[in-house]
Amino acid sequence: MADQTTKVLSFFGPPGTGKGTVAQRCVREFGYKMLSTGDLIRKHMQAQSNLGKQLAEYVNRGQLVPDDLVTQMVFEWAKDQVKPGATVILDGFPRTRVQAELFLQALSEDPDLSRVSFKVINFELSEEEIIKRISSRLICSNKECQSVYSTIAKMPKQAGVCDLCDSPLVRRSDDEAEVVRERLNVFSKTKNELLSFYKESDQSVIDFVVPHGLPDVVFDAFIKAV
Ligand code: AMP
Repeated sequence: MADQTTKVLSFFGPPGTGKGTVAQRCVREFGYKMLSTGDLIRKHMQAQSNLGKQLAEYVNRGQLVPDDLVTQMVFEWAKDQVKPGATVILDGFPRTRVQAELFLQALSEDPDLSRVSFKVINFELSEEEIIKRISSRLICSNKECQSVYSTIAKMPKQAGVCDLCDSPLVRRSDDEAEVVRERLNVFSKTKNELLSFYKESDQSVIDFVVPHGLPDVVFDAFIKAV
């Protein structure tokens, strides 16, 4: 019988390290399931629902969304989308110690999700390179797509248009310099606490030093490291 263990890979790291691009490629090449909490949050924001408006208050200031809210969103998605034996990438979750505690606790209590292996991939890149990458980043405006492009490293075939769904490409509202600075600041405040929790609770963390270069170079290095 096929292995029924569900494998969860948590992509952790500051913004602009290429987590989303690597995750999207793993989906295309290996058929993994993926949830980017950032994409999910932006989807709600674009829909301008009450929840979306509430989320925008945090995102547009570079702050994290409250832990219980984001953890609940991840669980709802997992219940609906994850089948036993699947490999799942959580891009940008957990991001705080509380999220990791809530998530691992809930996994251990849910009979459907009890056979889960959890591994963290810690993406590392210099701040200078992060700023360069974020200032050249464009995303697809179609909330179901949100593919990532770069004016220096991954140009679309037709300028300003998504290769996959033909929707216009836009800059993320939280990619403006001032908000990015705050996001990096928030990241550095929460990082050590989360990594210490993983260490204390014996969770597997793989450090991935992101190489400088085009997405293919990054993906090859990722495959070697992971
Ligand atoms: P990202 O697309 O991963 O850069 O996330 C964009 C924004 O969404 C973040 O700056 C946060 O405001 C929010 N966000 C995404 N994931 C989380 C999370 N796990 N916890 C709290 N806020 C999050």
